[in-house]
Amino acid sequence: MTLRELVEKFSKRTELFRPAPGGAVKCLACARACVISEGAFGFCRVRFNRGGKLFAPWGYVSGIALDPVEKKPFFHVLPGAQALSFGMYGCNFSCAFCQNSQTALPGPEASALFSCQRILPAALAESAAENKAPLIVSTYNEPLVTAEWARAVFSEAKKKGLRTAFVSNACASKEVLEFLRPCLDFYKADLKSFNAERYLEVTGGDLKKVLKGIELVYSMGFWLEVVTLVVPGFNDSPAELECAASFIAGLSKNIPWHVTAFYPAHKMPDTEPTPPETVLRAREIGLKKGLNFVYAGNMAGSGDAENTLCSVCGKLLVERRGFSVTTNLLAGRGTCPACGKTVPGVWK
Ligand code: SF4
Repeated sequence: MTLRELVEKFSKRTELFRPAPGGAVKCLACARACVISEGAFGFCRVRFNRGGKLFAPWGYVSGIALDPVEKKPFFHVLPGAQALSFGMYGCNFSCAFCQNSQTALPGPEASALFSCQRILPAALAESAAENKAPLIVSTYNEPLVTAEWARAVFSEAKKKGLRTAFVSNACASKEVLEFLRPCLDFYKADLKSFNAERYLEVTGGDLKKVLKGIELVYSMGFWLEVVTLVVPGFNDSPAELECAASFIAGLSKNIPWHVTAFYPAHKMPDTEPTPPETVLRAREIGLKKGLNFVYAGNMAGSGDAENTLCSVCGKLLVERRGFSVTTNLLAGRGTCPACGKTVPGVWK
C-alpha cells in the first residue's frame, strides 16, 4: 500500500495537540510544532488533521528485531543485554546522511509501496519477554512522531518489569517528554552538528530546538547518552566538536558521548567514510573537555576507545569488541571493584 493508505489505515486520535484557528491543530509531539490545517499532514507525513482532530500512527510496526543494546548505542545500560527494537514510519528531520531512510522517510520523494506488520502493544511486550530481552526500544524511525504508540507499548512492557528506550534526534517538546516520562527510561539523543546553518541545511532540523530537547531530557531525569555521527566536511572540525563536547559537559560530565564513523548513505553516497583517526581525535576532544565517558564507534580497531574505564582510577570495567561485551565488572553492582567509585548508568 502507499504511505498515505498505510497512515490512514493505521492511525488513532491523539490528545497531543492544541486547537488552532480555522480548524487547524498544533501538534505537540515534537518541537517542530507543526500547525496542520484540516485534511493536511504534518512535516513527518504520518500525523494528520481530520475534522479538527489530530491522528497519529497506531497498531503496526515497520520492523522488529533483537539487537544488542550496544548497537543503539547505549553503553551504560545493561551491557550485553538484548533489546527488542521496533519502528514505525516517519521522521521530523530529512537528513541527507540518513542511515534508516526506508523507515524514516527523509525528504518528500518517498513514494514507494510500504508494508507493515499489524500488532498490539501487549504482543510486542510479550515478544520481548519471550526473547528474554530486558529492554524494549523505539527506533528505526524518529520515535517522537509515533510517541503515542511507543507509550502504549512501553506501558505494557512496564507491567512485565522491562526497561524502555528511545533512539531519537532529540527535537522534543516539553509536552511529549512529560507524556512519555511515566514509562520511558533511557534516551539516546543525536547531536548532529553544532552549526545552526548546516544543521538546517543537511538535516532540516533546528539546532536550538535540539539543544533544548537534550537539556529537557537530562533535567527530567531520563538516562541520557548522546551520539554524534562524525561526517567528513559536515561536522568534523575540531572547533565544532569542542563546542559539542562543552555543551554536553555543561550538563554533566557523566553523560556518555558516542562519536561514531559515517559510511556513505542516502543522499551522500560520494562522501568518504570517516577516517578512524578523525573519530579518535573527536574522542580526545571530548575527554579534554572533561567528559568522563567518550566512546568511538562504528569502526574497526577502536581498541580502548570503546571500553568503559573507571573515571577515578582508570580500571578497565567493561570491555567491548564492536557490539560484543567481553568483560563486565559492573554487572549487578555499578561500582568500580578497585576503588569503589559509583559508575553512572544502569547495571542491573
Ligand atoms: S510530530 Fe513533529 S513533524 Fe510530525 S506533525 Fe507533529 S510537530 Fe510536525
